[in-house]
Amino acid sequence: MRQHARIYLVGAGPGDPDLLTVKALRLLQQADTVIYDRLISREILQLIPEKADRIYVGKAACHHTLSQAEINTLLVEQADARKTIIRLKGGDPYIFGRGGEEALALVRAGLDFDIVPGITAGQACAAYAGIPLTHRGLASGVRFITGHRRNSDELIIDTGTLGDHDQTLVVYMGLANLGLIVDKLLGAGRGPDTPAAIIEHGTTPRQRNLVTTIGQLEATAAANEVSSPALLIIGEVVALAGELNGALPDTGDIELRYA
Ligand code: SAH
Repeated sequence: MRQHARIYLVGAGPGDPDLLTVKALRLLQQADTVIYDRLISREILQLIPEKADRIYVGKAACHHTLSQAEINTLLVEQADARKTIIRLKGGDPYIFGRGGEEALALVRAGLDFDIVPGITAGQACAAYAGIPLTHRGLASGVRFITGHRRNSDELIIDTGTLGDHDQTLVVYMGLANLGLIVDKLLGAGRGPDTPAAIIEHGTTPRQRNLVTTIGQLEATAAANEVSSPALLIIGEVVALAGELNGALPDTGDIELRYA
């Protein structure tokens, strides 16, 4: 009988290596093969043992080094060995980034795997920017949504429920469609003066927190030449950023870079 590898679908968190879980770090140190994306910081890659194989399958918004189908096939192929294989994904594997598709490919190939959750970018960026995603009296809930278009289809966001002032919105992959997102938010009934933040390179020493309003989002992004990775936080809780900013954790003087 064929003996399969131990496969782990592991969340690496948003960049700061101190935000890896203890389990993710332990598994990385035992890895034979690590398959990783563009959003894994070099500082996290340095935690992988020298002897381990590293396979880069980086994905940028419009440029895929390997297609998702190729990544799925690679995972299944790699699993055909007596090894410890880590599929390392930015943030949490099951929050955007197609981790669910990779998991399904494994299951459908009859391969067992373990999932290790990670801190998702939305949580960590908000925390490091001094923005509580929920707050009594300001937001009774939070929604993580994607601002990415699937091919040239319409943006997959449901305008019907975006207008709820009591909900914080965290928009992943929203930079390329900022104009459209602003239109959808205004169309759904959010006022142009609603506080909004763009968080760039969250949890790295290059983190920038641009606090603005929905009406000024596009102008703010353009004036500051915002680059990926970045996410948007929309809602009244963003107004707390000024007051809570003093509590920012010390990320030290290491310079985190992405592969
Ligand atoms: N699985 C990941 C998300 C993958 S989608 C997670 O749970 O965090 C990729 C998007 O996540 C990026 O386009 C960006 O919107 C957001 N993102 C990831 N890391 C980020 C970071 N360090 N700072 C800001 N946004 C980030």
